[in-house]
Amino acid sequence: MPSKTKPKTQTKKPNNNIAKTNKKESKEQFDLFVQEVCGPKGLKIVKSIGEGATEEFIEKGTKLKLSEIRNVLNVLNNHGIVEYNREKNMNTGWFTYTWRVNMNRAMQNLLAKKKKECEVLRNQLKNSGDTAVIYKCPKGCATMFFDQAEKSDFNCPSCTAKLKFSDGTRQVKEMETKLYAIEKILSNQADFISSQNKPE
Ligand SMILES: [Zn+2]
Repeated sequence: MPSKTKPKTQTKKPNNNIAKTNKKESKEQFDLFVQEVCGPKGLKIVKSIGEGATEEFIEKGTKLKLSEIRNVLNVLNNHGIVEYNREKNMNTGWFTYTWRVNMNRAMQNLLAKKKKECEVLRNQLKNSGDTAVIYKCPKGCATMFFDQAEKSDFNCPSCTAKLKFSDGTRQVKEMETKLYAIEKILSNQADFISSQNKPE
């Protein structure tokens, strides 16, 4: 007896979809954060770490100098993006560092950083009235007001691209949207983690 009528309550599979979108969004935000902190080199190094890697392995994967890799890894570590395990070789007495990416901590630090930026911008806008013009790096590294922009000759202090000016109030709205997106990612992540850690 064929029945074409669908049940009124839809079969729900939202968790899967949320997890997928969430993963993609997290990845995008995460990559942006790494670029913001360390530029394209940082991203290259993070990608080569995979599930965990020694500095020598990263060297092979990226063809960058070991000293350069260590510098970038230290900066990434300061931003909570990576962490390491240190093991002593009993024969040589040297330490081997195995690096791992800590996505969850990185996203939390990213959120904190963006919150701060947004707060600063909001305060500056409050003081400058409604004709606030701000200067932005087209690659997204920096956002600043006229005084700061003038000091750096209207070039981005981190990537030297020419700064573009835009409406400050719109910028705050954009930042708030971004904050909301990151907050959503984090809360989804928290749900995901707590569902993974449920006692049996
Ligand atoms: Zn820039």
